[in-house]
Amino acid sequence: MRKATIDEKKRCPKCGRIEQQVKAGFNASGTQRCRCKICGIRYTLEPKSHAYSEEIKEAAIKAYYSGVSGRGVGKILGMNKANVYNWIKN
Ligand SMILES: [Zn+2]
Repeated sequence: MRKATIDEKKRCPKCGRIEQQVKAGFNASGTQRCRCKICGIRYTLEPKSHAYSEEIKEAAIKAYYSGVSGRGVGKILGMNKANVYNWIKN
């Protein structure tokens, strides 16, 4: 059961609730802002800590093991080859 019905990224930093969190536009840098309907505060969602999604990571690893070099994988997916090597190590 990995699929959550409530978006866990939206959590009020004040009361800690994940329900009754509504979208409230974006800030200057384009990050989603939210508002807690329970205590009424506005907050900014944390930007993603990983620049790449799991799918891209998997694709990179698969490509590597199918014979593409680390540099080649980096080129295909548009990323630093050091990233690719880091993932393969893990
Ligand atoms: Zn709240």
